[in-house]
Amino acid sequence: MRTEKTACILCSRNCGLLIDIDEQGKFGKIRGDEQHPVSKGYICQKAARLTHYQVNADRLTQPLKRQADGSFVEVSWDEALDDIAKQLVTIREQHGGNAFASVGGGGQGNHLGGAYLAQIRAAMKSKFNYNSLGQEKTGDFWVNGRLFGKQTCHTTEDVEHADYVLFIGCNPFQSHGIPNARDTLKEIRKDPNRTMVVIDPRRTETAKQADIHLQLKPSTDAFLMSAILAIIVRDGLHDTEFLKQHCVGFEQVEVALKQIPIADYVARADVPLELVEKVARDFATAKTACVRIDLGIQHTLNTTLNGYLEKLLYLITGNFGIKGGNNLHASLVPVLGHTDERKGHIKRSVYHQMFPISGIFPPNILPDEILLVGEQRIRAVVVDSSNPLLTWPDTPALEKAFKSLELLVVVDVAMTETARLAHYVLPAASQFEKWEFTGFNLEFPRNGFHLRHPLLPKYGNTLPEPEIYTRLLEKMGAIPKKLPLLANIARYEPKASKHIGYMAAFAAFLARNKAYQAFAASILYRTLNEVLENGAAVAAPLLPLAMQFAYEHSEAVQRAGFKGNRVSLGAELFAAILRERSGIIFSEHRYQDVWSLVKTKDKKIHLAIPEMLQELRLLAQQQATTTSEYPFVLAAGERRSYNANQIYRDPAWRKVDPHGAMRMHPQDAQRLNLVEGDKALCASKHGQISVVIEFDEGMRMGTVSLPHGYGIRYNNGQVLGPELNRLTASNDCDPLSRTPYHKYVPVRIDRVEM
Ligand code: SF4
Repeated sequence: MRTEKTACILCSRNCGLLIDIDEQGKFGKIRGDEQHPVSKGYICQKAARLTHYQVNADRLTQPLKRQADGSFVEVSWDEALDDIAKQLVTIREQHGGNAFASVGGGGQGNHLGGAYLAQIRAAMKSKFNYNSLGQEKTGDFWVNGRLFGKQTCHTTEDVEHADYVLFIGCNPFQSHGIPNARDTLKEIRKDPNRTMVVIDPRRTETAKQADIHLQLKPSTDAFLMSAILAIIVRDGLHDTEFLKQHCVGFEQVEVALKQIPIADYVARADVPLELVEKVARDFATAKTACVRIDLGIQHTLNTTLNGYLEKLLYLITGNFGIKGGNNLHASLVPVLGHTDERKGHIKRSVYHQMFPISGIFPPNILPDEILLVGEQRIRAVVVDSSNPLLTWPDTPALEKAFKSLELLVVVDVAMTETARLAHYVLPAASQFEKWEFTGFNLEFPRNGFHLRHPLLPKYGNTLPEPEIYTRLLEKMGAIPKKLPLLANIARYEPKASKHIGYMAAFAAFLARNKAYQAFAASILYRTLNEVLENGAAVAAPLLPLAMQFAYEHSEAVQRAGFKGNRVSLGAELFAAILRERSGIIFSEHRYQDVWSLVKTKDKKIHLAIPEMLQELRLLAQQQATTTSEYPFVLAAGERRSYNANQIYRDPAWRKVDPHGAMRMHPQDAQRLNLVEGDKALCASKHGQISVVIEFDEGMRMGTVSLPHGYGIRYNNGQVLGPELNRLTASNDCDPLSRTPYHKYVPVRIDRVEM
């Protein structure tokens, strides 16, 4: 038995782990890694059962090609990649870049493949990058772009140090998202000088620990947040000094907020006005306060407006750029791009004329872009580490769209529902069999990074994604198999100079050979393969990123313990990334550095966003969309004790909730003549699914919830638990960001007679 260091891959926290592994490669005990510089030994119950991800009946071992009768036959890598390359090149030559889209590009802690997949898009001359952030966070990114100057400006919240915390539409006890969530919540709860407020339609596990729970009606968050803002402005509790010094446009915001009918909006949210007044006052006057939000307000009506209002809460009260407030953070790996749709060169989708946000197109439009565009349609799709058939809205529409493609390739660890529709299924190494990193480093002022080493040997005939996409690029003729000049440099130079000389030669090579710039990741990988041991060259794209980061944030990197000048610092950082098995702290900013991360030309926050102020004006006209036919609001995609992303396929991993039960208030159940454990039919305008009822007194009457992570056909068997996206529709989405209304699905529930 040996003990190895790695990270949990089940949520964005990516806690450091110690895993005992026996001689056969079987996982034994899994516990927190106390040396991990961010999680420091913390884990939740989900990580302990990761063996079910590593070993399960759906694991892929060999490239598969679909036959005319729908069955799959094993083929060699060369056969699969030769044919895929030939088809992709033909499609590009006959139909241009519009004919290709990539889908996915990495899951939690599985990000290296995404950098390599982007090169396939470039080789196809396509801009169509569809991934799940486009159904979750892009409304938020769009607002960030307008407020802070670039969509790459990503915000974080200093919950650990705040005196007053507003949790809106999130349940960190189950969904985490903040450092060591359960410990952090406990500390706030135990401290009489700190206050925790939860705004959520359900009395969640977090709400039970809170000082105040505002159990609002589902999807009335915009009403409640604008009322809180209006109270703050009415009572003169906004931070005039901060606004004057750091913001522009407050006057227009103030005018809009003064028109909010406070009592009416609070009544619409159906929470006590007195309590809302208290929250507004105490939040605005707390020494430090921050706001933490999540999908509860991002998967529902007014998504983008919600993001705007939530940011106004901390901005107009001056809780930004301080300890215990909200902040921007620096990123070692740029997960987000900046695609301002007001610029003419931004490529839009063909049918919906939808623009990307942060470089990402929204999943909601994909079926139409495949099915409704005639000659200009998307004809070929590569899906990477993603199972959109279950996780994106409108399963039947996606199924129809994917079946109509000329080429669908799925790269994944397991045979997913999406993979079953593919022409080719390519088996990827698991996250414990390859080099990988945890990409969501969202902390400020200290930020961490963890490159994980492979713990287990190659499984079957799998390959890591970087190798799959590099081979594909070579077969497409995008890069030659041999780049003699660079290979030569790599052979004698890097170890001596810690890659600095190599990077200079590499930059000069790309300057002379611009056609290769889009394929820098694969060129680095191939040319450094001989000098970085044990296959670590797949992580070579981190070298220029580390050098660039250290150049831009040299003081923060030095404060994190690295020595050197602006150039050599990056090489030191890269060496530490490769070396440190528990991960590293790569930057230690000071709170005032947040202003260097603001990207507006005048370094001020631009508070007045015309589109959002217009939406705020129109909010009063919004009507509820439940009807007598569909009287319940379903919050689809709840996070619970034993659900995770779709990479846990084997149902044996769950200790509880095998059916992914529908939570319902007992009185609602009584009216429908349902008892706990009953089967019921849940129907929306778009489809119906079978559910099992569970009582939950924490549910608001008239609302029900179902968890995500179910609907899987494990080992090609029966559907396990709710297939949520048979209930959702592509066009039920935010008008600006097109993120879906998953937390607001009007449904009817009927008892199933046994
Ligand atoms: S699920 Fe999230 S919080 Fe739990 S151990 Fe894994 S990374 Fe940590």
